[in-house]
Amino acid sequence: MKVQRLFQGAGIAALTLYPLYAPTLSNSSMARMHSPLPLTDFALAMITNLALVSLAVALLWICLERTRAAKWIRFCLPAMYVFFGAECFSLYRTDNAGVKRLLGIAGLALCLTWVLYRVWPRTRRHVEFVCGKALGGLGIFCLLVVAQLLHLATWRPVPNFIEDRSLASAISPEMRSRVVWILMDELSYNQVFAQRAAGLDLPNFDKFRQSATVFTNVTPATDATQTALPSLLLGRLVDRVGYTWDNRYLFATQGQSLQAFPASETPFAVARNQGLTTGVVGWYNPYCSMLAPYADDCYWTYQANIPAVFVIGDGFWRNVGDAWLRYWIAVDHGQRDRALVYQAKVYDDLTVRAKRILAQDQPDFVFLHLPLPHPPGFYNRRTGQFESVNRASYLDNLALADKTLGELLATMHASPRWASTNIVLCGDHSWRTFVWRGTRHWTLEDEMASRGGVFDPRPMLMVHQAGETTPATIDSSIPLIRVHDILDSLLRGEQPDFQ
Ligand SMILES: [Zn+2]
Repeated sequence: MKVQRLFQGAGIAALTLYPLYAPTLSNSSMARMHSPLPLTDFALAMITNLALVSLAVALLWICLERTRAAKWIRFCLPAMYVFFGAECFSLYRTDNAGVKRLLGIAGLALCLTWVLYRVWPRTRRHVEFVCGKALGGLGIFCLLVVAQLLHLATWRPVPNFIEDRSLASAISPEMRSRVVWILMDELSYNQVFAQRAAGLDLPNFDKFRQSATVFTNVTPATDATQTALPSLLLGRLVDRVGYTWDNRYLFATQGQSLQAFPASETPFAVARNQGLTTGVVGWYNPYCSMLAPYADDCYWTYQANIPAVFVIGDGFWRNVGDAWLRYWIAVDHGQRDRALVYQAKVYDDLTVRAKRILAQDQPDFVFLHLPLPHPPGFYNRRTGQFESVNRASYLDNLALADKTLGELLATMHASPRWASTNIVLCGDHSWRTFVWRGTRHWTLEDEMASRGGVFDPRPMLMVHQAGETTPATIDSSIPLIRVHDILDSLLRGEQPDFQ
């Protein structure tokens, strides 16, 4: 009997914690792809929580089963299934569990259960029998989840850096031209230049425009960072990506199956063939695995809130506690958000490294993928400080993107290589209002700046060629994946074709 109670406790644990472990297990490849660190702490913390909930529920049930409370617990079981069923359903539709709505649905289920038992009293025994047995079945499912989590705990990433090999091969760099590709995630042309919000100052974008070609009608590759970046690196549309257990990056175009990512078709290979050295400072994608044979200097990271409340690298005990934060965050949404603190940390880490790589003589080809102005807003443009509360907007992040651009340009200006430096500045997609509107990260300022959430699909694309001192504008339509060919031309020392 006690073993049966333990299985039922495990069933409750499997149900209540499902939204936390499911995204990591059902899409383990993506969780690993975006994690620069092992997932061991997360997996062991999850197993600990499953064990704690199983034991607590089993003990409580053993203590209560001969009391009047047991009758009420059995009565509530169908509503509990409805609550967690609705939570699992909402998990794949939104990033917000919406606890108040879920409680409302569960309350309705309670009322219906009461009506059912009043109208057909004999159904009560059957319903309670099925609910009890189903819990036992979920207990067996819980064991399978633990086995999968143990497997995940054994995964080891490849290092998220490649030591600087380029310095050793440096040969009179001032003789060669330099190409710097700055990709700011979610940088919208419309919000920066076409319909800039009143009162938003972006002096560095304006200044850069004075000596660059700006494209006013760029069509995006895809709306997801995950597929947009490999699309730009290959110059063709990537439909989906994958990541093997032994850390090999895979990609597929539409209708094709996943295959090894051909780093030899990226501008990094062109640079190497030209005898140039290469470097990456990147966000989100496992660049050091993707570009390994052609990157002399590489570092990538990601704040990796998987799946939403856990932060990889926080350690076992913090991850144990993280699981219990989720309802607090959902109820209190709009308030303090640890995700913002980690976004700011990652931003600091990447920009420090970006400035350092630009200040050096090497590499000749530098690719910077920065985590802004990608929401959530984590910067307050009025105070100049990072935010730990959800009240900053996309415009705040744009102001930080402008400040960052200014710092990167100042670093490049100070370099002896400035006169021969070419710069490609772009977004990977535009501001995805359809993704952010309705989440806890959406602010009134976002609503106004987007004119009620209207999506403008044009990502930013600007090109400064070495020595260019006048502005130019190209209004004809151009796909963003042409960035690949523009980079190839610049790396070969040729004039890029903008038509
Ligand atoms: Zn993106």
